[in-house]
Amino acid sequence: MPIQTTTNIWHNGNLIPWDKAQIHVMSHVVHYGSSVFEGIRCYAQPNAAGIFRLPEHMARLVDSAKIYRMPLPYTVEQLSTAVIDVVEANGVAPCYIRPIAFRGYGELGVNPLRSPVEVYVANYPWGKYVPGTSGADVCVSSWSRLAPNTMPALAKAGANYMNSQLIRMEAEINGYSEGIGLDTNGYLSEGSGENLFLVRGGVLYTTPLANSVLNGITRSSVLTLAKQLGIEVVEQALPREMLYICDEAFFTGTAAEVTHLRSVDRILVGDGTMGPITKALHDEFFGIVHGTLPDRYNWLTPVNVKVAEPVGV
Ligand SMILES: *Cc1c(COP(=O)(O)O)cnc(C)c1O
Repeated sequence: MPIQTTTNIWHNGNLIPWDKAQIHVMSHVVHYGSSVFEGIRCYAQPNAAGIFRLPEHMARLVDSAKIYRMPLPYTVEQLSTAVIDVVEANGVAPCYIRPIAFRGYGELGVNPLRSPVEVYVANYPWGKYVPGTSGADVCVSSWSRLAPNTMPALAKAGANYMNSQLIRMEAEINGYSEGIGLDTNGYLSEGSGENLFLVRGGVLYTTPLANSVLNGITRSSVLTLAKQLGIEVVEQALPREMLYICDEAFFTGTAAEVTHLRSVDRILVGDGTMGPITKALHDEFFGIVHGTLPDRYNWLTPVNVKVAEPVGV
């Protein structure tokens, strides 16, 4: 996908031109991965545009920064306003939004505390979901997810994505679209950037936060929708082989949205098509974000942007 630019990027309280949003090569983040970030979607609804779960994303950014002792000089409300400002200034919807905070140009020692914290919010056009009917063919990765006492999995940190990159590269080189990481005890964890759900016997299972997963906002949205639909939900450590004997499996995430898994390690999940529980959750999710169902949980923050024709994903 070519990089799709917009006009403005928000930096420490001001809008600056896209091409001016540059950092020095000796910035701390370049050498030690000292960043925390978010990925957020702004969806188009009939004659409107809305950002999905903006305050929850900004609260998670603040949490991620806190874990890494990174002082953010902005509140959740101020960060949310920054996101709205940049989206409205650029006038692009639907779009993908990328807030990021990192340790900038200061001292190059390992200790980040003497490097300034920089906060940016960028966005770029990202198309409407094209419903995938075929599903994803995935594998279990030979790489494990982060062990709990190494890198905090609850922080959405740039450095965690070195692990994600290993999982993703291995999967794609071997002909799969994504890999699923196990935790260091061998239980299911999650994809390189997606939470994992399974269905067996009508019960919806997902891996708990203790199994080295990110507290995904799409994950929590799907859990809310499952409760609304009266689906029994179990959060417990899941053995790998549940992937092979489940009736349905799917990923959730801002990028993946709700994507069903057709096969795992070339073993078909159910009959390979999207199963009924996945479909019910998928349809609720897309109904709300695309405005064909009421936004009953107030998940969308409206923005004043004229909606463009869908662009390619
Ligand atoms: C961002 C991310 C997810 C998905 O979280 P959402 O809030 O739903 O976008 C899942 N796993 C990892 C490792 C992530 O970084």
